[in-house]
Amino acid sequence: MNHFAFRDNELYCEEVPVQKIAEQVGTPLYIYSHATLKRHFHAFADAFKDVDNLICFSAKANTNLAVLKLFSNLGGGLDIVSGGELYRGLKAGFSPEKIVYSGVGKRIDEIDYALETGILMFNIESLEELDSINKRAGVLKKRANVSIRVNPDVDARTHPYISTGMKKNKFGINTEFAIKGYKAAMGLKNVKIVGIDCHIGSQITEIKPFEDALKSLKLLIKDLEAYGINIKYLDMGGGLGITYNDEVPPQPAEYARAIKKSLGRTKLKLILEPGRVIVGNAGALVTKVLYRKSTGVKEFIIVDAGMNDLVRPTLYKAFHAIKPVVLSEEGEIVADIVGPICESGDFLALDRYVQRVHQGDLIAVMSAGAYGFVMSSNYCSRLKIPEVMVKENKFHVTRKRQKYEDLTKGEKIPPYL
Ligand SMILES: *Cc1c(COP(=O)(O)O)cnc(C)c1O
Repeated sequence: MNHFAFRDNELYCEEVPVQKIAEQVGTPLYIYSHATLKRHFHAFADAFKDVDNLICFSAKANTNLAVLKLFSNLGGGLDIVSGGELYRGLKAGFSPEKIVYSGVGKRIDEIDYALETGILMFNIESLEELDSINKRAGVLKKRANVSIRVNPDVDARTHPYISTGMKKNKFGINTEFAIKGYKAAMGLKNVKIVGIDCHIGSQITEIKPFEDALKSLKLLIKDLEAYGINIKYLDMGGGLGITYNDEVPPQPAEYARAIKKSLGRTKLKLILEPGRVIVGNAGALVTKVLYRKSTGVKEFIIVDAGMNDLVRPTLYKAFHAIKPVVLSEEGEIVADIVGPICESGDFLALDRYVQRVHQGDLIAVMSAGAYGFVMSSNYCSRLKIPEVMVKENKFHVTRKRQKYEDLTKGEKIPPYL
């Protein structure tokens, strides 16, 4: 069941016409379907329910407080990559013992914050980080639960910017050094080894890279056992892809089946860090047509959302389906859908067949629930746009549109000017 669907030629989110939301909240804006978020979370969680597991939603995909609160209400945990995400996670009600902390560049203040909070574990990405965490835990008289993020050197066959599990990527610790890391950790007073972790990339549309990564981790776990290191958690990271266009990624159930099969019988608790697969198709960016023009070789549809609102097309050449909010009988044209920003890279779609639109018409940029708003910026001093959650026949603004005053908040002109 798709909760963004046409009824009588009009795009709805659940029971609410998208046009109605846009009229009341203004454009551009992000809209999320509560039912889709919930269904995706359940589909993922249910797929693993016969093994001991914790689903740690990857906050960086969508950190809207309402979205996070929904997942914490559903019993989920959280995968964070910054102190800011920890702050949001706690605000959204996640219990610290369900929070895992990944990322190659954890700062001391962030480490301290996580130690004071008492999170489930730090996913360590370098030996120097391990050392820092041990030192800070000593200073704060805490014991840090750690797992090592292993780089299993598998090719996730995704966009190079979102591939993370190859030797040439900055993430994790190579398998041959991982054992060294664990041995080093054994000798540290203020850390406790509790797990092993990997995250090989994002928008992965095949099962095999996950199986390969798990195989590599299992070999390491065997080695660890030989050294008398017994861990509790096996964290497989996230990365499962979604359909933006014509991709056919494995469904969560198929993904879970493959992982459970490769894993075999185990006492380990499985941690998963899905992001995109839960929120990606639960959101859309709605934008208004400002102007149209033709250069003779190209048709342009200029809309009020730009790369600062949704950077994925610019950054990854990502495809997002474009839908009219109201269907007409006017036929299609091929056009570039571009934003108001002074960069040629400012586009939402290139050479796309789209319904012929007019000034003031609304367009929905689909599958924008993951890495959408969270990657937005104030470039060109554009205001960050609202986020709205729809549940059945009601909608709530879960983040207000910024105001001009917000733009200069915190800025100061020195007295000599
Ligand atoms: C980004 C990230 C995820 C989530 O990735 P998705 O592709 O959105 O599922 C999970 N774990 C870590 C460590 C990440 O950096």
